[in-house]
Formats: sequence, C-alpha cells, structure tokens
Amino acid sequence: DVHLKLAKVHRHYGQGETLVRVLEAADLEVKGGELVAIVAPSGAGKSTLLHISGLLERPQGGEVEITGVPTSKLNERGRTLLRRDTIGYVYQFHHLLPEFSALENVTMPQLIAGRDGAAAEKRAMQLLDILGIAPRAQHRPAELSGGEQQRVAIARAAANHPRIILADEPTGNLDPATSDVVFDALASLIREEGAAALIATHNHELARRANRIVALRGGLIEPITL
Ligand code: ADP
Ligand code: ADP
Repeated sequence: DVHLKLAKVHRHYGQGETLVRVLEAADLEVKGGELVAIVAPSGAGKSTLLHISGLLERPQGGEVEITGVPTSKLNERGRTLLRRDTIGYVYQFHHLLPEFSALENVTMPQLIAGRDGAAAEKRAMQLLDILGIAPRAQHRPAELSGGEQQRVAIARAAANHPRIILADEPTGNLDPATSDVVFDALASLIREEGAAALIATHNHELARRANRIVALRGGLIEPITL
C-alpha cells in the first residue's frame, strides 16, 4: 500500500527577484513498512518537502495523497483531522513536555485522541520497549540523555498508530554513536508498525540503512545511491 504519494508537486516562495523555486514537479511514493531517506544540502528544500507531506504547508500545484486520500481539495479542518489520524512528526529537537515523564509524554497524545488511560499506557510502554527505553519510562526529559530524549520523541510521534512518519534531521543534534542507536530504533519501529517513513538526514552512513535514498535536485525528487 502506498501511504504517501506526491504527484507533480510544485512549491515556490517569493516572486520576481526574491523567487525561490523549491519543488518544480516533485514525484514520490512511500509504501507501508518502507523507509526513504532524503539527503540534500541545506536550503535544497527538505523541510518544505516534509511540511508539504505532513499537510503543514500547501503546495501551489500537484497533488499530495495521504493513505489514498487526495488532499488538494480539503479545507483546513479536513487537513488537520487527516494529519492527526495518519501522520507522526519527529523534529531535530525533541520538544518533550519537561514536567512530565517519558511515559506521560507518550501517553498524552493518545488521551487527547480519546483512548482510555489503561490502553494508552499499555501502548506507550510497548513503544518505549521497542525503542529500548522502557527502563526510562518514569524519567523526565531532563533526566534522559539526548539519544533517550529523541527515542521518547519517536515513541510519542508513533503513539496514535500513524501510517506515515516524517522526520526532519532526527539525529542532527546527536553524536555519531548515539545517532546510530536512534536511527536503528526508528527503523525497527517503522518496520514493526508498517508505517511509511520519510527521513531527512545529512548523515550518509545512516541514509544507506534506508530502503531507498532520494535527493532534491532542481526541484525534482530523484533516486540516488551513496
Ligand atoms: P532545507 O530544509 O533543505 O534546508 P527549506 O525547505 O527550509 O530547505 O528551504 C528551501 C528554500 O526555500 C530555501 O532557499 C529557503 O530560503 C526557501 N524558503 C523556505 N521557506 C520559505 C518561506 N517561508 N519564505 C521564503 N522562502 C522560503
Ligand atoms: P550520555 O552518556 O548519552 O551523555 P548522560 O550521561 O546524560 O548520557 O546520561 C547517562 C544515563 O544517566 C542516562 O541513561 C540517563 O537516563 C541517566 N541520567 C542522566 N541525567 C539524569 C538525572 N538528572 N537524573 C536521573 N537520571 C539521569
């Protein structure tokens, strides 16, 4: 199943002398269980691509299909609901709530989505376990290492069973050894959950562990090998 599909997506910023063409006719398909890495220099448009894929930003042309649903004709409310139901987002910085434990940070989005407390905690513990941080469930973010914090953020992004996980430099703030651990934890989670994942990274060694690698060049998304 193709969970994320971009067809001829067009996005530019500015006009005249300030015109920046970021995506010209960008095509991409990511299936469930598949992990696609995007590598491109800073400014090439990785964040724009992830924001458009996550329905945080609208393209000026083309179509973005999320779990088979075309989104170009949805209003803001429709986009927000579809985003909540289908998409998990991981950022370079964890953005965890500092006054809550790891477990509570992963439980909370499920409570907001209407799941009952016991089921939400069970799911949260299962995710912390898959990511190798179950022994840190009762710790607050400040009591966790950078890699542990980022794994909690990944668990939180996956809490409501998103079909698509988008990650913008998820290891960008970590040392190389910790980056390995976090990336591998993310990859095994994605395969276990059957989600489609699009991960922007500068790290070529990590990108090689994805199922496919794509680059952004001249506004197009192109397959590459590193
Ligand atoms: P990356 O994530 O690869 O660093 P971005 O997607 O953030 O790239 O940006 C791609 C290009 O689009 C850059 O040249 C950036 O300056 C420009 N850009 C991004 N967002 C805006 C915006 N809101 N207004 C104007 N230009 C923007
Ligand atoms: P790293 O080796 O990645 O730099 P740290 O030295 O920050 O990690 O942390 C090592 C371990 O100690 C981690 O497992 C973390 O959960 C735990 N830890 C760090 N700070 C605290 C704290 N203030 N309270 C409780 N546990 C902590």
